[in-house]
Amino acid sequence: MTAAVRMMEDSLKCVDGVLLILDARAPRASLNPKLGKLFENKKILYVLNKSDLADEEGVKRTISEFRKEGKETVSLSATNKSAIDNLYNKIFVMLKEKLDRNKEKGVFKPVRIMVAGIPNTGKSTIINALSGGKKTVTGDKAGVTKGKQWVRLKDMDLLDTPGTMPPAFQNQTYAVHLAYLGSMNDANIDFEDLAFEFISEFKVRFPELIKNKYGIENLDAEPIDIFNEICVKRGFLMKGGEYDYARCSKAIIDDFRKGRTGKVVLD
Ligand code: GDP
Repeated sequence: MTAAVRMMEDSLKCVDGVLLILDARAPRASLNPKLGKLFENKKILYVLNKSDLADEEGVKRTISEFRKEGKETVSLSATNKSAIDNLYNKIFVMLKEKLDRNKEKGVFKPVRIMVAGIPNTGKSTIINALSGGKKTVTGDKAGVTKGKQWVRLKDMDLLDTPGTMPPAFQNQTYAVHLAYLGSMNDANIDFEDLAFEFISEFKVRFPELIKNKYGIENLDAEPIDIFNEICVKRGFLMKGGEYDYARCSKAIIDDFRKGRTGKVVLD
C-alpha cells in the first residue's frame, strides 16, 4: 500500500462520509478499484465532475450503471452554483440516518466529509465552491495525523486532499485516458506518443470531433497522415517545413483537456 493510501485509511476513521470525485469524461478510469475496499463501510457519493466537458448521454449512462452497482452518483460541473448547492444537500441526504440518530441523542455537530479522488478531477475546485470561496482552514483535528487540512463550513467539515489518491493502472486503455485528462504526471508522459494514441482512438470512435475541430476530411487515413495534416492546418511546421510534432502534440492534448475538442465519455 502506498503512503497516500495508508494516510487515507487513517483519515477515514474520523469522517462520516466520502465524496469521491471522478472525471465525467473517464469515470471508470478515474475510479481506483483498489480503494473500493477502503471505502467499503463508509457512506459514499460518487461525483462525476466536469460534466460540462462530457457527452450528456454518456454521463446519464454512467450514472445509471453506477447506481445499478449500488453507488449513489451525481453529475455536476464545479463551476455551476446550483449544482454545488444540490451537492451540498445530497451530502445531508446521504448522512440522514446518522444525523437523525445524533438529533435523538441531542448531539449537534458538523458532519465530516473526506473529499477524495485522483489528481486533476476538481477536488480543490469543489471544496472552494462548497465553501463559497470563503473557506476557513481549521487545521489538524484530534485523532488525525498532523498535516491534514480541514475546511470548516457552517455545518460541515471537509477534509481537503488527504494525500494524493493515486491513479490505478487497471489497464493500458485507462492509463492512456487518464493521461489525456491530465491525471497522470505530465513529466513522465511522451506527448508525441500520447497525441498519436489520441488521433488513433478518436479517428475511429469520435471521427466527427476530429473532423470538426481540425477540418480533417479523410478519417480513413493513417493516424500519422492525420497528425501531419493537423500540423499543416495549425501551422506547426519548423524551418524547412518539417512537422513540429512536439508543439502539435501539446496543442492536441491541451485542446482536449480544455474541452475544445468536443464532449465525450471515453469509458
Ligand atoms: P484537483 O487536483 O482534484 O484538486 O483538481 P483542481 O480543483 O485543481 O482542478 C483541476 C482543473 O480542472 C483546474 O484547471 C480547474 O479549473 C478545472 N476544473 C475543475 N472542475 C471543473 C469543471 O467542473 N469543469 C471544468 N470545465 N473545469 C473544471
